[in-house]
Amino acid sequence: MFLRATTALTALALAAPAFAEGELNVYSYRQPELIAPLTDAFTEATGITVNVAYLKKGMVERMKAEGRRSPADLVFTVDISRLSAVVEAGLTQPVVSDVLEANVPGIYHDPEGHWWGLTTRARIVYASKDRVDPAEVTSYEDLADPKWKGRICTRSGTHPYTVALLSAVIHHQGEEAAKTWLEGVKSNLARKPQGNDRAQVKAIWSGECDISLGNTYYMGKMLSDPDQVAWAESVNVLFPEFEDGGTHVNISGVAMAKHAPNRDNALKMMEFLTSPQAQEIYAEANYEYPIAPGSEASELVKNWGTYSADEVNLMTLAALRPTALRLVEEVDFDG
Ligand code: FE
Repeated sequence: MFLRATTALTALALAAPAFAEGELNVYSYRQPELIAPLTDAFTEATGITVNVAYLKKGMVERMKAEGRRSPADLVFTVDISRLSAVVEAGLTQPVVSDVLEANVPGIYHDPEGHWWGLTTRARIVYASKDRVDPAEVTSYEDLADPKWKGRICTRSGTHPYTVALLSAVIHHQGEEAAKTWLEGVKSNLARKPQGNDRAQVKAIWSGECDISLGNTYYMGKMLSDPDQVAWAESVNVLFPEFEDGGTHVNISGVAMAKHAPNRDNALKMMEFLTSPQAQEIYAEANYEYPIAPGSEASELVKNWGTYSADEVNLMTLAALRPTALRLVEEVDFDG
């Protein structure tokens, strides 16, 4: 009996792995097919087991409810709005690391180290190959020009992708001009905002509109889906710029949880993730752009063209989010 009890105790001790050495717990909004190749490579290199909870929503609420007992070490997500939501809720801790500083350009991380970018995606224009001369698409400002009347399709004005782009317009043009711009884009829409980025390209393919706003990686996703290849092949990927800036980009990123129980392992993973090699694996899996100096996008992604990214720090855009959301309401963009 005694032996059995001892064995049971030992088993119990071993069955509490979340806080033991050699583990790392990740909460991810990103899909398993993107994350698994990285966690597998990390485990192979370090021997550290990575447990990933794939969440669809409610990460902030869950971490708040868990409080100090939260098993989360790292948070993976996309979009500066989602990253800053976790930070603003007080659920992260600053990370200082020479490796991270070397691998992540300054505009793609929080100056205090609460979030770090891993890859970028540009918000670009998909344009009909048949009906739009690529030279016609120039600046984001130009999308409000009446020449596009009845020709633009886009997703909802309240979606984080639209809000981040509008935040960039506010940054470059000021609030008043941004409101006028948004009204101009609205008056150019072929239909009320609806659907996701790929649905807009489908609408170009079917003739409902001529250009749409979308993230670059959806081109790769459409090309890899037999049902959507025709949509992708009906459009060009064009990179508009701001008149006084570059092409609007957003990031996928990582943050360390405030109460990370495996802090050392979490830092190791962050440093691993920002390495040029890991960024390239990650970027290729979702047709994104790695950001480490010397890293390169996949051949497919490079084929879409080159662009110069807008140089605004994404923190600046995150701070403009409430203003952007208010403008979307004021012009009744989705109405
Ligand atoms: Fe997306």
